[in-house]
Amino acid sequence: MKTIDDLAVDGLRVLLRADLNVPLDGGRVADDGRIRASLPTLTALTDRGARVIICAHLGRPGGKPDPAYSLAPVAARLGELLGHPVELTADTTGSAACAAVAALHPGGVVMLENLRFNAAETSKDDAQRSHFADQLADLADLYVSDGFGAVHRKHASVYDVALRLPHAAGYLVKAEVDALDRLTANIRRPYVVALGGAKVADKFDAFGSLITAADRILVGGAMAFPFLVARGDKVGTSLLEASQVAAAADLLKRATPGQIELPSDVVVAAEPGGSGAVVAADAIPADQMGLDIGPQTAARFAAALFAAQTVFWNGPMGMFERKPYSGGTRAVAQALADGEAFTVVGGGDTGAAIRALGFAEDTFGHVSTGGGASLEFIQGKTLPGLAVLEQS
Ligand code: ADP
Ligand code: MG
Repeated sequence: MKTIDDLAVDGLRVLLRADLNVPLDGGRVADDGRIRASLPTLTALTDRGARVIICAHLGRPGGKPDPAYSLAPVAARLGELLGHPVELTADTTGSAACAAVAALHPGGVVMLENLRFNAAETSKDDAQRSHFADQLADLADLYVSDGFGAVHRKHASVYDVALRLPHAAGYLVKAEVDALDRLTANIRRPYVVALGGAKVADKFDAFGSLITAADRILVGGAMAFPFLVARGDKVGTSLLEASQVAAAADLLKRATPGQIELPSDVVVAAEPGGSGAVVAADAIPADQMGLDIGPQTAARFAAALFAAQTVFWNGPMGMFERKPYSGGTRAVAQALADGEAFTVVGGGDTGAAIRALGFAEDTFGHVSTGGGASLEFIQGKTLPGLAVLEQS
């Protein structure tokens, strides 16, 4: 895969697709992990005299401008990290963007307003996307793909624009691919996977292929509930994707005996605000919800992870945002910090969790910025935004 080291960029206009889709809290960036992860490529380009045009999306504004989804807080935070302000254009490819790009000096940076203010960005219609990609390509001489979290999408700024400009991967995309490759071939064993979080349906496809690849699969978070129900337990008022119970039963059938490990105890409360009590996983009271794996489960999972040679972790073990339910997620992170395994942490909230709990990112082999993209990659799927980089 060609990287920016293979491109002559001095004085040229470089369209840099980044993944800056960060959580916001009252108009401020709540977790700047993705912004920080985009810095090495950005600063390499500006140091080498490129005129950098950053494009990115934020949330799901539905294809039209919406101030609630402006990239303004992101541009402000990026400016703080760089030590100088970053101009945000008022539109994405219109007259404001063109004027700002024309005024760019070598080493300068502008950010285009949210790509998804334009319905064509995510359109399934090739002609619509092509038209928008033409506009993006007109702004630049070169294209650099560094928004790993979006490379599994066939979007105009990810896929179509790469067909129109000389291109290369940024350092983030390269680092992601190198790390995730280690989970697809020549895997050092034991290979232990920890899966949790709340987006269960989104992750079950990947779960299926992990059954083939992994030695042990530890299941926590809300992901555990369809499995507990499939096994015949009641889960009270826990967050349950009921439509996933049959899929969980199928996964249990396909796995080797003992390969999928479920919680044996759970922290429950009547509401997420409560302090939480520990109960057996098969005895969750009808009026209580499971909000974290219990201490016995956390210790068992930690031991398995500590003994691993390769680990993939996607999804928090509980509602880590609230202190009484962060113990399981903390135990998993600590075991990985203490152990020797090559560890890939995937999932936006999982990355946010380790940072929120005070773990340094370099404690882990690789913290992926892309949840969906990393899950598709390790299944061996073709990711449009990566495949297109192979074409010249
Ligand atoms: P990721 O972004 O890492 O892939 P998800 O988006 O699937 O993870 O899920 C993250 C969310 O899951 C967190 O906000 C966390 O509070 C929530 N969560 C984890 N366990 C539970 C649980 N037992 N009950 C409710 N929410 C949970
Ligand atoms: Mg998430």
